[in-house]
Amino acid sequence: MFRLSTLLRVPAFPPTNRALSAMASSLLAEQPTFSWLQDLGLGVDNKGVYNGKWGGRGQVVTSYSPASNEPIARVQQASLEDYEETVKAAKEAWHVWADLPAPKRGEIVRQIGDALRKKSTLLGKLVSLEMGKIAVEGLGEVQEYIDICDYAVGLSRMFGGPMLPSERAGHALVEMWNPLGLVGIITAFNFPVAVSGWNTAIALVCGNCCLWKGAPTTPLTSVAVTRILSEVFQSNKLPGAICSLTCGGSDIGAAMARDERLELLSFTGSTAVGKQVAVTVKERFGRVLLELGGNNAIIAMDDADLDMLVPSVLFAAVGTAGQRCTSTRRLMLHESIHDTVVERLLKAYKQVRIGDPLEPNTLYGPLHTKQAMETYKTAVEQAQQQGGKVVYGGKVIDRPGNYVEPTIITGMQHNAPMVLTETFVPILYVLKFKNFEEAISWNNEAKQGLSSSLFTKDLGRIFKWLGPKGSDCGIVNVNIPTSGAEIGGAFGGEKHTGGGRESGSDAWKQYMHRSTCTINYTKELPLAQGIKFE
Ligand code: NAD
Repeated sequence: MFRLSTLLRVPAFPPTNRALSAMASSLLAEQPTFSWLQDLGLGVDNKGVYNGKWGGRGQVVTSYSPASNEPIARVQQASLEDYEETVKAAKEAWHVWADLPAPKRGEIVRQIGDALRKKSTLLGKLVSLEMGKIAVEGLGEVQEYIDICDYAVGLSRMFGGPMLPSERAGHALVEMWNPLGLVGIITAFNFPVAVSGWNTAIALVCGNCCLWKGAPTTPLTSVAVTRILSEVFQSNKLPGAICSLTCGGSDIGAAMARDERLELLSFTGSTAVGKQVAVTVKERFGRVLLELGGNNAIIAMDDADLDMLVPSVLFAAVGTAGQRCTSTRRLMLHESIHDTVVERLLKAYKQVRIGDPLEPNTLYGPLHTKQAMETYKTAVEQAQQQGGKVVYGGKVIDRPGNYVEPTIITGMQHNAPMVLTETFVPILYVLKFKNFEEAISWNNEAKQGLSSSLFTKDLGRIFKWLGPKGSDCGIVNVNIPTSGAEIGGAFGGEKHTGGGRESGSDAWKQYMHRSTCTINYTKELPLAQGIKFE
């Protein structure tokens, strides 16, 4: 295993000292198990700002592997001066980018997808190393970026508005869609590649430049992705600032929220921070796209196919160690199947292979930070105080890294405070209900409205679930888990999840502004509604 701690015993590498940085890189190359980071353009010390050139004069942060809490490498984040320069560069780059016809922008996005394909294995491995999710999930995230690039290429030849019938003779009524300008993208730690991709690919084909700030605990992934994009712009002789990066924490995030030059701010993260961001952006009448927390439920009826239900719950509650916005946190079981399903889940949970996320056999890795382990411990305690019984897990695992046991808690009231709280850890609350209407109302009583699933074979219940008196979430599934959304649909949720939509369907509309244009091609001036003004 590569150890930055060993390397750091050599003299510190001042950011401006090229000779010492080169020394660091060669030391990195000597570490056989970690030298692959160099193939992503990463060294021991990395610059966390890109605006056509790499820089960064802010705080230096060390990125740690959640599986061991060993340092991986360091990134120098953006200072507010770096941020200012980057916004200026991105605004200038927009003049070049917006002039390219949309299908030509699509061609650049196609090249970005191809460049990501070439590095997908390495990039997926980095996600796994730095975020802590298992290797296949790391790779899956990169694949989502590639897929959305493909989608955006097609979109670049398809979006646009209709020509509508005008009530006036000799007039054309047309909808024009134009780019907004600069799109700010703030992302969370748990999807350090895919979420920036959903935004970037669509924003780019729509004619916008992008300024991205990833999570401060996944800066190496942000730098690696931006390096891949920057090479595409460079080889096409386009300004690199079309896709800029300012690594940083809440200081840079708050600056983005305040900044009137960002015509859209797409924010993915917790409801608490999203609320502050939304208020700040709305205060300046800016546009904000919010992808916030979820408290997702699976409802299983008496006729549910248990062979589909049990693996679905396992995947959605235990996958990514419960750190997906769409993770299943509440399982509502009809009273007639409750005990059988809990018993089968206990058996299934015992099979989960816990280990190093980079090992191919591992199904369940660590939490992202030490702080998340504390959150987990507190949540288990509070759930017990609120009447919960831990029937599986409940403890921190005694091994290096941030490992906790995947946990099942039964016996709680549907409206107990912990059941209605999004705790971003692998705790599943199992609830027992008597009838379908009751289960729907429990699903909808969570403040958040992201994802929801119903397991049944009854067509009547399925359509009720999809209809006005069904689930109030943005994602409403039947006989599949709450997580694992496809990029072709619009992704997002209602209520405290923020109401934003990203990815497919008509989500592109949020990255453009619509003008309703009336063109008179006659020599007459008929006014609307037949008004005469003589
Ligand atoms: P977080 O809210 O702590 O951080 C998200 C981002 O906001 C980070 O980049 C952070 O640096 C930045 N930030 C922090 N303070 C800020 C401020 N004052 N102004 C602007 N930006 C600021 O969230 P997290 O812990 O990284 O991620 C977990 C949360 O994200 C969960 O609630 C999860 O449900 C949610 N999430 C939602 C979606 C979705 O699509 N709905 C997807 C992924 C994650």
